[in-house]
Amino acid sequence: MDLLINSPSWNYRDGELYCEDVPLERIARRTGTPVYVYSRRHLVEKYREITAAWRGRSHLVCYSMKSNSTGAVVRTLVGEGSGVDVVSGGELYRALRAGAPAEKIVFAGVGKTEKEIVEGLQAGILFFTVESTPELELISRTADRLGKTAPVALRVTPDVDPRTHRYITTGKAENKFGLDREAALEFYRLCRRLPGIDPVGIHMHIGSQILDTAPFREGVKRLVALLKKLKAEGISLRYLDIGGGMGISYRGEEPPPAAAYAAALRPLLKGLRLTVILEPGRFITGNAGALLVSVLQVKQKAKKNFIVADGAMNDLIRPALYGAWHQIVPVRPGGGKTVRFDVVGPVCETGDILGTGRRFPRPEPGDRLAVLSAGGYGSVMSSNYNSRPRPPEVLVDGESFRVVKRRESYRDLVKGEAL
Ligand SMILES: *Cc1c(COP(=O)(O)O)cnc(C)c1O
Repeated sequence: MDLLINSPSWNYRDGELYCEDVPLERIARRTGTPVYVYSRRHLVEKYREITAAWRGRSHLVCYSMKSNSTGAVVRTLVGEGSGVDVVSGGELYRALRAGAPAEKIVFAGVGKTEKEIVEGLQAGILFFTVESTPELELISRTADRLGKTAPVALRVTPDVDPRTHRYITTGKAENKFGLDREAALEFYRLCRRLPGIDPVGIHMHIGSQILDTAPFREGVKRLVALLKKLKAEGISLRYLDIGGGMGISYRGEEPPPAAAYAAALRPLLKGLRLTVILEPGRFITGNAGALLVSVLQVKQKAKKNFIVADGAMNDLIRPALYGAWHQIVPVRPGGGKTVRFDVVGPVCETGDILGTGRRFPRPEPGDRLAVLSAGGYGSVMSSNYNSRPRPPEVLVDGESFRVVKRRESYRDLVKGEAL
């Protein structure tokens, strides 16, 4: 089986799939399945790929923890020096708990509550990404009441098309996020008039799973043009936040490496005294992880063969939600002729699909399959639908691994409920 994900951390050795130096079968025996498995080395290598690409230019990587907010994952990146991009009070709580320094945390999100704004102010974060004028006014009132000053960056929709899935396009004029470029000047003028507000940056995040540097270039060009207009009015900003969205290989796509983004963007920033902020999520986590499942049944119907696995849409919803394609491979492929299967879970929904039309040798019940590229937007989107406890999560480091989140119990399912 050829892996399409292009990560040196996942490999077959002697007919068996490994994460780093640990055979996945060993993890499955220890924890049971389904289980999320992450490669620590992959996380660190992808983070370092970005910082190496931007060396020599003042920059800060703020890992976008909505792609994977598991404490040990955030901790690993924070340990490398990463900041964190949070989109809720819950993520802020998790980031601080994982040891992220407040001065490296940026807080985005299209509808922050007053409570969340208070939490950000009290923590002393680097800045709030502000998405509307009413939100700016709320932040101003809240900061003023607390006797604090809120650093802010406007999220601009630069109106570029990242040519990705429409559900993960965020930088077009018709999307709900941010403000139009035309409104930006007025926004920063208002910042000057409002109490408790310190405008420090400008922000864009144009979409996700982008496989081309051109939309970033176009977006940054537009932001730089804005920066120059602001400067002419005496408003100088310190941070240019270019968001996340860098794509990865799920099925053999050829995403630009971090160096290609840096090479495309650096010339646009010549002569500007700015710190560049990057908010990668999927780029770091996507191919760090796999969902390991076991085959429950193999069944033949008139028109199709099905593999019913013990992992389901509640564990990994991307195929059901976005029609996302994840490579699915046997952990021990063995021999024999290949057959076409739909790989489905036990949840009572026709949409409970992990993958359709996949070819491999007919497995036996108990055999393991790895659903690859599941490190980003996997566990974070899992649910208890059908009252299925969420899977445990394992972090592999070289020859060893540890459970960094235990499997939920039935008791966890009813936690907080009153009869
Ligand atoms: C989701 C998100 C990101 C990360 O997106 P990826 O595609 O995972 O890199 C970065 N910034 C903001 C504001 C986001 O909402």
